[in-house]
Amino acid sequence: MKLPYLMTPGPTQVRENVRLARAKECTNPDIDLDFYEFYKETCMAIGTFLETKEDVLILSGEGILGLEAACASLTEQGDRVLVLDNGIFGEGFADFVTMYGGEAVVFKSERTREIDTNALQAFLEKDNNFKYATIVHCDTPSGVLNPLDIICPLLKKYNIITVVDSVAAMGGEPLLTDEWQVDIALGGSQKCVSAPPGLTFLSVSGDAWAAMENRQTPIASYYCNLLIWKNYYKDKWFPYTMPISDIEGLRVAIDNILEEGLESVQERHAQVANYTRQRALEAGLELYLEDGFSNTVTVIKVPEDIEGSQPILDEMLSQYGIMVTGSFGYLQDKVIRIGHMGENAYMSKVRMTIDALIEAVGSLQKL
Ligand SMILES: *Cc1c(COP(=O)(O)O)cnc(C)c1O
Repeated sequence: MKLPYLMTPGPTQVRENVRLARAKECTNPDIDLDFYEFYKETCMAIGTFLETKEDVLILSGEGILGLEAACASLTEQGDRVLVLDNGIFGEGFADFVTMYGGEAVVFKSERTREIDTNALQAFLEKDNNFKYATIVHCDTPSGVLNPLDIICPLLKKYNIITVVDSVAAMGGEPLLTDEWQVDIALGGSQKCVSAPPGLTFLSVSGDAWAAMENRQTPIASYYCNLLIWKNYYKDKWFPYTMPISDIEGLRVAIDNILEEGLESVQERHAQVANYTRQRALEAGLELYLEDGFSNTVTVIKVPEDIEGSQPILDEMLSQYGIMVTGSFGYLQDKVIRIGHMGENAYMSKVRMTIDALIEAVGSLQKL
């Protein structure tokens, strides 16, 4: 089977050295003490990647597990939680909050723009009694990037713990976890990190640990309980058997980024993103967003004379062998998304993709 050339906003292309690392022989990660060292060193490499000195954990499960684990571990019955919503993942956090007994108070902001921080500030002046807040860094279905550097310090002024879904931004956009006072920064293996899907990782600040430790009631989950990880290294005990091959791959993927340097990787993302947006506009295509463009994904409106996104996706795959994607929820059939994150974020790959997209749209419009 010839695989399509993957240019989606996750999963992304995986470099050969990451794929090969996953083929290494396995030890028993529960009882081999060397594995605890390897796991801890990998968490510390991720800490460098996230620019944090706080604890980092790698959990066996896709990005969504991290999101749910943060909410499960922090939420108690009746807790008020502020959910910042200018996109599908933003809105989705409310479900995790209510599922664990919390009261989700949704702060809505226009979906075609980054979160309005002045409006947020005005809102917080009137109501700031929240245990924690959820924020999405890049809301991938629309590609909107939110200014964490303003939002997180603002929330912390009111002692609100910040839970940030940066699954689709970290690595492509700056994420200064400690400097911006992010309490829990959530990531996944299959976006800018460019390892296969299967792992989520997160940083946990002292304030976040304290909020979990000071609960009146136990955490209503085992797999989503972050507190059971607190002493894994001291006790040489994992809550479940670690997916060793996935972690071997993740380690090499993180090392690839650190070896290139965070700044160089981010510059590469800025370059391909600027190029993609410019090419789309020059070709007469429209971008979905008005501002807040993430450098990890470009979201282009389906032209009015084409029926939904599927004909374009089909043409891209059948004529050019390139897999891009549409979107979902309120954006279903309205947009095409090019994922230029991680290993996808090279000019040669992006140029080929936008050339093909422009040609594909042109040929469908001639019909
Ligand atoms: C990809 C992604 C996740 C992980 O979820 P999946 O849809 O299962 O891949 C979480 N948050 C954001 C913003 C993402 O882009």
